Formats: sequence, structure tokens, C-alpha cells
Amino acid sequence: MFCGIVAGDVPSVKVAEDETTCAFMDINPASDGHLLVVPKRHSKDLFEIPADDLTAVTLAAQRVAKAAAGAFGADGVNLLNCCGADAWQSVFHFHLHVIPRYTDKAKDRLVLPWKPEVPGDAEAIAILGGRISAAVASQQT
Ligand SMILES: [Zn+2]
Repeated sequence: MFCGIVAGDVPSVKVAEDETTCAFMDINPASDGHLLVVPKRHSKDLFEIPADDLTAVTLAAQRVAKAAAGAFGADGVNLLNCCGADAWQSVFHFHLHVIPRYTDKAKDRLVLPWKPEVPGDAEAIAILGGRISAAVASQQT
């Protein structure tokens, strides 16, 4: 579907485009100005996207985030990527959500079930951190 948007076969509100990326408005916006940034070259998800496309998409997301925040007077921005159906990915073409956030809830409908005020178990967090750090170290090539 996003390949169709990139190609112009599927209608969308494009807001920015360069050689490798395309940014367009989300049709189910969580807030005013919610948009998506995708690589033009198809990649399924975070695990598959080549480094150069990921870099380009991230830098494009920063540009449109600044532009959208400035244009709408946003009080903040969330970047969100969903990788896998269990992580809420519903379109399997890599995309970064750029979600301007507002104190004014009339412009901001984003509500997650996440409750960050509930403290985690510090010991369990340290153990998980150690496992991730070992996995990152074993990845170096
Ligand atoms: Zn695609």
C-alpha cells in the first residue's frame, strides 16, 4: 500500500519528498499533523530496512517533525515505529510515525494503555539490560 502511495497510484497528502523518502499525512491521525515517513524502496520492517534507508527516513522524520511542530505550535513530538503485528504494525512497509503532541487535548487524541508511572523492578531491568548489551556486543562484525 505504501509502495502505491510512493508511486502515486494510491492517493495521499504528501508533505515532503526526496530521493529516498516520502512523507505523507496519516489517514487515521492520532493528533493534528500526524504523518508518516517511508523509504521509497520497499522494506517490510525495522529488521529488514537497509541502514542507508533507515538513516534517510530518520533524518526526514526530524525535518518534518520540526516543520509540523512549528506549523501547528505543537508542544512536543513522538516518533513511533511498529515492527511486527504484535507491536501494532498493520502496513508491512517500514514507516515512522511523526506525531505532534499538544497540551490542548482537542488536537491530541493519542492515548496508550502504557502506564509509565508504575515503577519497574530495578533488578529485573538490570538483568534485561545486561542481556541486550551482550546481544549487541555479539552483533559487531
Ligand atoms: Zn511497500
